[in-house]
Amino acid sequence: MRCIDGKQIAQQVRESVQSEINALGLRPGLATILVGNNPASHVYVRNKQKACEVAGIYSEGHTLPQDVQEITLLSLIAGLNDNPKIHGILVQLPLPVHLNERRVLDAVVPSKDVDGFHYLNVGKLTANCPGFVPCTPLGVLHLLKTEKTEITGAHAVVVGRSTIVGKPMAMLLLHNHATVTICHSKTRHLDDICRQADILIAAIGKPLFIKGEHVKPGAIVIDVGINRLPDGRLVGDVDFATVYEVASAITPVPGGVGPMTIAMLLLNTLQSAKWAMGKQ
Ligand code: NDP
Repeated sequence: MRCIDGKQIAQQVRESVQSEINALGLRPGLATILVGNNPASHVYVRNKQKACEVAGIYSEGHTLPQDVQEITLLSLIAGLNDNPKIHGILVQLPLPVHLNERRVLDAVVPSKDVDGFHYLNVGKLTANCPGFVPCTPLGVLHLLKTEKTEITGAHAVVVGRSTIVGKPMAMLLLHNHATVTICHSKTRHLDDICRQADILIAAIGKPLFIKGEHVKPGAIVIDVGINRLPDGRLVGDVDFATVYEVASAITPVPGGVGPMTIAMLLLNTLQSAKWAMGKQ
């Protein structure tokens, strides 16, 4: 019964990114693109920009109106693709429904796709080739490794199959030699499958969905979910109180996976700058 301190682990990553940037001789640059008025998205983007500034990354924010035409967004991305000051381009999701999300994400040149959402980077991850890996699953893997979790041979159950969390998470665990089961809304006997997990990752988007009774004693439970309850409280997909009693370790919400996502964005932006300089 240990609470994994994502904030502290993220802080260590941020400090190491900062000191590497100090020694690099080039200031990495990240451009953020925010479309519309989603209040949560505004908070996420502001936090990412603040983290960049602290780490020594040049940050450039672009805000577009809710009803922006796709061509305007695509030409902004084209300009950033060609801008040598910019090493990473982040399009904050979700986009308004009139925009074709896949077309927009694939407009970002793969070498600046620090979110790892371009289909080329998706393919590279599947092929286990160097490329950009989505920040949230990358952060979860970093948490597991920092906690010295035995991944090899473990049964990892990922609940959720989204392109930005569930699927890349499963792929990373597979490359790290876990036996991986991916569950989703059509999965039968979800409870039984969760109870088999040595590592249980919840990326569902349903508040407090995973309870203590779904968890094998001694399992490691990672809660990716961020849900706002009607009373304003922020909770994960895992019922912390009951799972804490059963699991050997668990991430809290807030203060678990969230800070790792931002730290990995900084790391990916630094990596992009290094690749642009011809470094490893
Ligand atoms: P999506 O809505 O894209 O995906 C949710 C997944 O959960 C889907 O695959 C869905 O299945 C599955 N699911 C939904 N209901 C059930 C159910 N009853 N039983 C089993 N599976 C179910 O969400 P995201 O992956 O984008 O995000 C997941 C959560 O993580 C959200 O709370 C989000 O806010 C949070 N998040 C947190 C981040 C962080 O930095 N901490 C970053 C990104 C997301 P199906 O495919 O069949 O519909």
